[in-house]
Amino acid sequence: MARYTEAKCKLCRREGMKLFLKGERCYSSSCAMDRRPYGPGQHGRRRGRKPSDYKLQLREKQKVRSIYGVLEKQFRLYFAEANRVSGATGENLFNILEKRLDNFVYRMGFAPSRSAARQLIRHKHVTVDGVICDIPSRQVKVGQLVSIRTKSHNIPQIVQSLKDNGKRDRLPFVEADEKKLEGRLLSEPQLSDLPIPIQENLIVELYSK
Ligand code: SF4
Repeated sequence: MARYTEAKCKLCRREGMKLFLKGERCYSSSCAMDRRPYGPGQHGRRRGRKPSDYKLQLREKQKVRSIYGVLEKQFRLYFAEANRVSGATGENLFNILEKRLDNFVYRMGFAPSRSAARQLIRHKHVTVDGVICDIPSRQVKVGQLVSIRTKSHNIPQIVQSLKDNGKRDRLPFVEADEKKLEGRLLSEPQLSDLPIPIQENLIVELYSK
């Protein structure tokens, strides 16, 4: 499975905002955005010219890809699907991204980051409606029960993530039981419920050219 392997903090510094890609570290004083709040590389501190429309669109798309840990090819497929079904394309796109199983495990607070959630799923620690699922991109349906297997409850990453849960935003469409380590998607995720500032229209404009 292809994945992004370079320094994650560079992604935050490039976008000029915290994307919370590293779990616990993102809430500590070690966060690179607190220590070096400028772009990576030798030209990172340079104040550039006014960005073009294309650059704004591209950066917004890259920001969202980085947040959800999705590679370009898959992101394009998600956009095509969002465009195909009825409704606003931007809303549909985030609905698909939020319903990915790795994102949902992270949203429930059982993993410190989406990449950690992906690893838990790949290593067969997660079940959907009682059946082991090792596909991080699987779409969770409303009402489905997503659980951490009983024998996996003491995995240090999960224990630490539960301790840090108070620092995270709670989303209205996510139900999570921290004792049983299980939860459900209560309703269709809405873009307005997400705790990050996103201009989905820029992504739609970029891909509609
Ligand atoms: Fe981004 Fe987290 Fe790195 Fe801070 S510690 S720069 S929020 S990935």
